[in-house]
Amino acid sequence: MICVIFNLRIEQGRYGYMKKIAVLTSGGDSPGMNAAVRAVVRKAIYHNIEVYGVYQGYLGLITDDIHKLELGSVGDTIQRGGTFLYSARCPEFKDQAVREKGIKNLLKRGIEGLVVIGGDGSYRGAQRISEECTDIQTIGIPGTIDNDINGTDFTIGFDTALNTIIDSVDRIRDTASSHARTFIIEVMGRDCGDLALWSGLAVGAETIIIPEVEVDIKDIAEKIQHGIDRGKKHSIIIVAEGCMSGEACAAELTKYINVDARVSVLGHIQRGGSPTGEDRVLASRLGGYAVELLMQGETAKGVGIKDNRLRATDFDEIFNTANSKPINQRMLELTKELSI
Ligand code: ADP
Repeated sequence: MICVIFNLRIEQGRYGYMKKIAVLTSGGDSPGMNAAVRAVVRKAIYHNIEVYGVYQGYLGLITDDIHKLELGSVGDTIQRGGTFLYSARCPEFKDQAVREKGIKNLLKRGIEGLVVIGGDGSYRGAQRISEECTDIQTIGIPGTIDNDINGTDFTIGFDTALNTIIDSVDRIRDTASSHARTFIIEVMGRDCGDLALWSGLAVGAETIIIPEVEVDIKDIAEKIQHGIDRGKKHSIIIVAEGCMSGEACAAELTKYINVDARVSVLGHIQRGGSPTGEDRVLASRLGGYAVELLMQGETAKGVGIKDNRLRATDFDEIFNTANSKPINQRMLELTKELSI
């Protein structure tokens, strides 16, 4: 065991009194990450646990960019987008020898718990740490706009991104209707269609194209033509990036119909902005819960919310693709019924 190799075994052990924890944000940032860090810091300090911030995700863990956080360190952050701890991609963290360096940096400070806020890549890093050093407990908090993590109905940042898309599409709709155009709007979400589905329903899109459902462009073209024939002034198509690009969608459509289609790729504006009330509350609840779990001696789990109740799920279960979150079929059906 690495902890033994380094001769840095922590005296109190995993089920004793936890005295020091660390928190990092990793992978793609999302609005609400700051609120989650704040909750971790405040809850821990409330329970007399010291908290360290690891800057730049796993990169900071290996470069020892680790600093003690105080109550004031997280003041005035709940409303800010992004992450004041910074985030980074650190592919070298997949290498065990590199991870050992990071683990050593935690152990030398007597840190017994690590909260990782990020997506499933970040969770994998946390799982490796808990496997390789049983003296460090790890808990993951789902921070991504994509809503693509098992074990939770919602990820931190999803609601803010959804509202950003809605606001953008409402603006696009004004110009679409002035010029009687079809607008194809490409939204983020990686392989998950939730951002497209939810935003499509919320803006009244004529068509939603998501990776979870086979796409029939001819069918979509016919629907748009039908709308034009009965005097529709404009059409909005929301396409999830994980299915196809907006440009590819436009090229396919024009094979079937003569339509003035414009493409808008919303891009990184979806990741920014002040977190919504929903995301701030979710981040605060999950941040507090992560600390509770560490205090209870739990490890290798991701926290989440299911049917509005806090849940903890083993990383193994989260990574099991058989547990992948299915798209909400009833919502999908409803979007079809409402967009006739
Ligand atoms: P996200 O967490 O948003 O899914 P990434 O997939 O880029 O983002 O993962 C973030 C970071 O997590 C990576 O840069 C790397 O440092 C770490 N990571 C990802 N996969 C693994 C893995 N299999 N083992 C160890 N660390 C990993």
